[in-house]
Amino acid sequence: MTQKSRTTGSNTTTSKTGAESSATTFASLDPRSGDVIAEYPVADQAAVDEAVDRARIAARWWDAQGFRGRREWLLEFKKAVAQDAVALATLVSRETGKPYGDAFLEVMLAIEHLDWAAKNAKKVLRARKVPSGIASFNQAATLEYKALGVVGVIGPWNYPVYTPMGSISYALAAGNAIVFKPSELTPGVGKWLEEKWNSIAPTQPVLQVVTGLGETGSALTRAGVDKIAFTGSGPTARKVMAVCAESLTPLVAECGGKDAMIVAADADIDKAVDFAAFGAFGNAGQTCAGVERIYVVESVYQEFLDKLTAIVKRAEPGGSDESTYGPMTLPRQIDIVRSHIEDALASGGTAVVGGAESVGERIIEPVILTDVPETSRAVCEETFGPTVVVNKVRDLDEAVDRANGTSYGLGASVFIGNKAKGRELAERLRNGMVSVNSVLGFAGIPSLPFGGIGESGFGRIHGADGLREFSRPKSVTVERFSSPLRLMSLERPERDLNLSAKMLKFMHGR
Ligand code: NAD
Repeated sequence: MTQKSRTTGSNTTTSKTGAESSATTFASLDPRSGDVIAEYPVADQAAVDEAVDRARIAARWWDAQGFRGRREWLLEFKKAVAQDAVALATLVSRETGKPYGDAFLEVMLAIEHLDWAAKNAKKVLRARKVPSGIASFNQAATLEYKALGVVGVIGPWNYPVYTPMGSISYALAAGNAIVFKPSELTPGVGKWLEEKWNSIAPTQPVLQVVTGLGETGSALTRAGVDKIAFTGSGPTARKVMAVCAESLTPLVAECGGKDAMIVAADADIDKAVDFAAFGAFGNAGQTCAGVERIYVVESVYQEFLDKLTAIVKRAEPGGSDESTYGPMTLPRQIDIVRSHIEDALASGGTAVVGGAESVGERIIEPVILTDVPETSRAVCEETFGPTVVVNKVRDLDEAVDRANGTSYGLGASVFIGNKAKGRELAERLRNGMVSVNSVLGFAGIPSLPFGGIGESGFGRIHGADGLREFSRPKSVTVERFSSPLRLMSLERPERDLNLSAKMLKFMHGR
């Protein structure tokens, strides 16, 4: 590499300086103005390997702190982040283009998770005695969860604090060191978190950040970490998984969604409409578990649609902190949103608010589509923009069938008067998470695991399952006294085998 070159995170166009060179820095851009916020290095394989080597040493120190020590450090970290939350939210807002209030909400949620992980790791992961059963009654059995070592975290841009911190907080609390590759659209947020950790523990690089484009993420998957926590799109998850397969590196994959909302005849319609508008259009629809499809029972369909239309028509997207939502953060997503609207209309759907013309250069005005066939891309694929499909259904059974009709399975919401029926519908929805009478209710409860099935990925962050995701169970037995039966012996007495056969019949054969 002889000459320095540059690429932009926002459109990932690499400006190469020659056949053998590639970009060494990239720019983080403000989606509202296109201004360069800052430049960051593109970490190559050697730089990523060095970070992982440093993390491996730091991981030994971190592990030695024990649950109590880590809890203290993490609560210090939490305090430092919380004291400077305004600065972090301001940076999130600049790098993503989302209004400041939305950015602040995200920071608040991330802090709640960090707090929970710090305070609950010991309870969930510490060594405990477990029953050894009648057949092994002479053994004392102990189960504990050990740290994996170094976890590589690869993050997206849409919630650049909340989402990666869902892995980072739980993996740290479980005793691992982290090398974090933030999205190329939000590198500043990643660096901010690293600097905040360094402000409290400058000599212990337990949380390091490597910046770069997809290649840097790929380098992290090849760097010999003990687990990859990936959040992003399904297609990228497949590439990450293929690389992880080469070295049997375990992977947790948090991918996209096509979440449905179901509205029952006895629902509080005003409330459902309010949540629907927020779930579908908040953050410009760039939410993995946002509302992308709504199935409304026919008796309340028109009322729901009229009220949703009214609220959405009042929305004012734009580039200020007072805007309802901001510009699209990732420019290439704009073409996907447009193609979904066009496909919905071409396949027989109707636009009751907006249409293909709502897609501007960077800002997309809200779009409500109705009567869209379930085969349309607008129903089957993640749109990730400020559009929503509202379809009429005969009854709740049809709503569940349609909600379960895509290859995704992240979250869903149900609006219903009868809460018991709401729980029953939640059971029948084929996904990882359901909120009854709210949207995204599960995302703010740290003790609930977060994740999906199918195209939405596998594994869990948050909660006890999230802590265990970043640990390995360790099973230990200690003999209390010699067994009266010598079954595990090359010279097994026949009498002991006969006695065991009688015991087996008595215990399990009746
Ligand atoms: P993306 O898949 O384009 O990129 C995600 C990350 O992977 C980025 O940091 C990127 O640099 C990196 N990357 C790209 N190529 C790579 C490779 N070959 N190897 C390793 N890393 C590579 O996704 P995005 O556009 O940043 O994020 C949007 C997607 O994330 C949406 O589908 C959204 O639904 C999903 N998401 C899911 C959750 C969840 O918790 N389930 C949360 C937020 C976002």
